Amino acid sequence: MKIIFLGPPGAGKGTQAKLLSTRAGIAHISTGDMLRKAVAEGTELGKKVKAIIDSGQLVPDDLMVSLIEERVRADDCRNGYILDGFPRTVPQARALAKMLEARGEKIDRVVLFDLTEAALEARLSHRRGAEARADDDAATQKQRLRIYQEQTTPLIEHYAAASALDRIDANGSVEEVEERVRSLLGR
Ligand code: AMP
Repeated sequence: MKIIFLGPPGAGKGTQAKLLSTRAGIAHISTGDMLRKAVAEGTELGKKVKAIIDSGQLVPDDLMVSLIEERVRADDCRNGYILDGFPRTVPQARALAKMLEARGEKIDRVVLFDLTEAALEARLSHRRGAEARADDDAATQKQRLRIYQEQTTPLIEHYAAASALDRIDANGSVEEVEERVRSLLGR
């Protein structure tokens, strides 16, 4: 089972991906976590992407695609995985499809986390207090939302056109949203 979780920053994708990963025994691939780890460890990749992440911009597609190509080859991806934060642009989605096709594989489900503007504001402002992320100050969050609107929302059309997209209502508590994910995916 290969699943993409799509939605704005703050929609709860990461939380739900963790829960689903544990329930279904499939890997949780968060590109944001991978990049933050690279920055924290001071690797070559980390040095390249630090300023980009801190400013709320997107890391170049070719870097992201190589990162994912390597990650999905790992042992823990054998039974499948949830992509959380990738793809974020149409070129990334195309590269992913091509890479999977070459392996005789495909994405099984794309789940869009739908959230009202008010709920999104509330979640992001809560996260500003709760998590010590350098890219979670108010101005950078705003920038990340703008980038989401511009570069990532075209993916909704992209996957809807391929009839691979399901929307879930991402408003409400973690438990409520978890229940919706379970009933949609059957796991
Ligand atoms: P996230 O934790 O998913 O919100 O990601 C944090 C930051 O990492 C983003 O604001 C981007 O700078 C970078 N990032 C994560 N995933 C991607 C991606 N698929 N493409 C480009 N940049 C990414």
